[in-house]
Amino acid sequence: MSLPDLEIRCWKCWGSGVIPWNDHAEVMACPECGGIGWIPTDEGRRLLDFLKRHLGLDYEEEEEPAD
Ligand SMILES: [Zn+2]
Repeated sequence: MSLPDLEIRCWKCWGSGVIPWNDHAEVMACPECGGIGWIPTDEGRRLLDFLKRHLGLDYEEEEEPAD
């Protein structure tokens, strides 16, 4: 399912959710999208907030270190 207004394909891993970790063909979860492969847009985040409120979903987002 594609929701172009709610999410964009991760520019770092191109939707795979993983990126090469080293030269030994190992991979790690993509830090940009958290291993999901897609990144919510501002509209997508609003929808997520909506769903969290109305469905009672409760999950903690990892805080990214300020750079
Ligand atoms: Zn990614």
